[in-house]
Amino acid sequence: MSVAKSPSWARQKEGGSFTRLPVTTMLNGAELNVPLHVITGRKKGPTFGIITNTHGDEFLATMAIREFVNGLDTAKLSGRIVLVSVANPMATAGFGRLTPEQHGRTDLHEVYPGNARGNTTQMIAAVITENVLHHVDALIDFHSGGSGGRLQARVDHNSKAPAELKARNIALARAFGAPFVHENEFAGSAAHYLNSIGVVAVNPEVGGCYLGPATSQYYTAMMVKGLTGMLKHMGMLKGNAKPPRQIDFNTKARRELRPRFSGYLNSHYEEPQDLGKLIKAGTRLGEVIDLYSYEVIEEITAPFDGYLFFSRYSGMVGAGTQAFALAEKAGSRWLA
Ligand SMILES: [Zn+2]
Repeated sequence: MSVAKSPSWARQKEGGSFTRLPVTTMLNGAELNVPLHVITGRKKGPTFGIITNTHGDEFLATMAIREFVNGLDTAKLSGRIVLVSVANPMATAGFGRLTPEQHGRTDLHEVYPGNARGNTTQMIAAVITENVLHHVDALIDFHSGGSGGRLQARVDHNSKAPAELKARNIALARAFGAPFVHENEFAGSAAHYLNSIGVVAVNPEVGGCYLGPATSQYYTAMMVKGLTGMLKHMGMLKGNAKPPRQIDFNTKARRELRPRFSGYLNSHYEEPQDLGKLIKAGTRLGEVIDLYSYEVIEEITAPFDGYLFFSRYSGMVGAGTQAFALAEKAGSRWLA
C-alpha cells in the first residue's frame, strides 16, 4: 500500500530477524507485544505474510510454520516472508481462543483492521495492520483445530471477494493442496480486510491440537508441503505447485452438526483420512453419552450425503458446540 510508511524490516538484506512490536501494557505490568519474524531471500520477489495463533489455542500450525521456516534456504528464496508467530499472545497465555479482557469484541479474527484507541484486541489488530498487512503482496492467516479437539484440512477463501480477486484467492488456496477449499464468511478477519484493499489473502485451517504423534506428524507434513506449494505458486521458490483434485463448497453447502445436549462425544471419525470421505445420509457420526446417568442421550447422524470436512475427537462436548461438519454433496464441486 502506497499510503503506509515503510517499516524498518523492509531494509533487511538476506537472512532472518526476530523482533517484538509493542502494543500496550497488561495488568501484570508487562508489555504486550506482537512477535515478528522476517526472512529475506537472496533474490528479489514478493512479500508473503503469515499470521498464526489468531486464536490462542491453535498451536499445531505454529509448530509446522516453525519447521517450515527452519528448513528454508534463503539462497533459494525470492522475496520475503513476514511472519507473526503468535498474533494474540493474551489469548495464548490463557490457553483460549479469545482475548481475556472486559469490553468489546475479544476475537481477533473479527476486528480487523483494528483501532489503536479501541479495546486491547483492536489494538493488537491495529499493530498487525500497520506493520504487516499494509506491506504484503499476499497473506495467509493460518488456523488449526483448537482445544475443542477438532480435526481440520482445508483452506478458506472469502465469499465476498470480487470475481477477479476471488479467482486469485482460489489459486493461492489450491496451491496448499488440502482436500478442501471452502468459500467462507470472512467479515472482520485480516484476510477480509486485505481483500477489501485488493490484496490476495486466504485462511488455511489444518490439523488440531493434542493429537497423537502419528496424526500430528501427518498434519505437520501436510502444512509444510502446503506452505512450500504456496511459495512456489507465488514464484518465491522454484517449481510448480500442481494442486490435487479438491472439493470446493460454499456456506450454503456447509452444515455443522452440533450436539443438542452436553456430554461425552463418542466420535466414529477420528482419523485424518476420514476428512474428505463421502458420508451417506443417515450414517451415524457419533453419539453423546450423559456423564451423570451413563445413558446415550443423543445420536448424531448425517442429514444428507456430504463430504466430511471437519471432525471431532471423542471427548467432552458442550451443548451447541461444533462436533462434525459436512459439505453437502449436491452443493459441492470437484476442482480438477
Ligand atoms: Zn482459528
